[in-house]
Amino acid sequence: MAVPKKRTGKSAQAKRRANWKATKPEVVTCPNCGEFALAHTVCTACGYYKGKPVSIKDAPTVEEVIEEKKPAKKSTKKAAKTEEKAVEDVKAVEEVKEEKAEKSAKETKEEVAQEKKPAKKSTKKATKSEEKAE
Ligand SMILES: [Zn+2]
Repeated sequence: MAVPKKRTGKSAQAKRRANWKATKPEVVTCPNCGEFALAHTVCTACGYYKGKPVSIKDAPTVEEVIEEKKPAKKSTKKAAKTEEKAVEDVKAVEEVKEEKAEKSAKETKEEVAQEKKPAKKSTKKATKSEEKAE
């Protein structure tokens, strides 16, 4: 393994690194749409290369349309089932929420009652203590 004979100083390091420069990418205006595109590459805006459509984004090819339709048929049945399940789940969740709401309302009432009771006790004690003090 090659080992450097001497340590490179800061000066030499900085001088070497001073020559590092960023290269500007070769940009060309697309002859089809006029957008800026990298040279020797397909235009990202319109998908044309050398005046021919290579990859058109907006208009899908016939194969893509067929491929898109096939899973759609399968997914419709599943989607319908899942939608039904989702609706049932939502209903169940709503029921649970209502129950929880009722429970929470009861709990809050109980809590309020509990909060009132010790307050009463404390008032009684306070009154007793006040009586004793008198
Ligand atoms: Zn273009």
